[in-house]
Amino acid sequence: MKCVYHPDKDAVGSCGTCGAGVCDACKVMLAGKLYCQACADIAFAERASRPTPPPGPSLVQPSLLPRVQAPGAVTSLVLGIVGFMFWPLGLIFGPLAINYANQARDAIAANPMLDGSGMATAGYVLGIVDTIFGVLGLIWIIGMFTCTCATVPLW
Ligand SMILES: [Zn+2]
Ligand SMILES: [Zn+2]
Repeated sequence: MKCVYHPDKDAVGSCGTCGAGVCDACKVMLAGKLYCQACADIAFAERASRPTPPPGPSLVQPSLLPRVQAPGAVTSLVLGIVGFMFWPLGLIFGPLAINYANQARDAIAANPMLDGSGMATAGYVLGIVDTIFGVLGLIWIIGMFTCTCATVPLW
């Protein structure tokens, strides 16, 4: 058998895919099998089009690792939102949200690998807003009662 690319050269083997004879210069070894150059190209292209397998552990970037939420970040945000939706509760939930947000921030400061700084910040801001709303709400309720009492005729 002669090489499919070099008719003057003897083939050292035949392609594992198409069976064409390949000489020593043309043969392509791929995963322990012999291929002609055309089939090797196709095999390479198929490999390249496949999603690349995840790199070894040493190549993994810290940012690619699943981020762990800092403890308190989610709680802070939830408390902040609940306190915002039910503003009279803001007096209780607001300071709690701030407290949890601070915990989350401390945890992130201690371990930069932790995620949730955005949530902690949102929880912190909501906590402040909740507290203000809660205080204003309380003043408003007291004011309303006071006004109602004052305007109710005594007779
Ligand atoms: Zn081939
Ligand atoms: Zn050849």
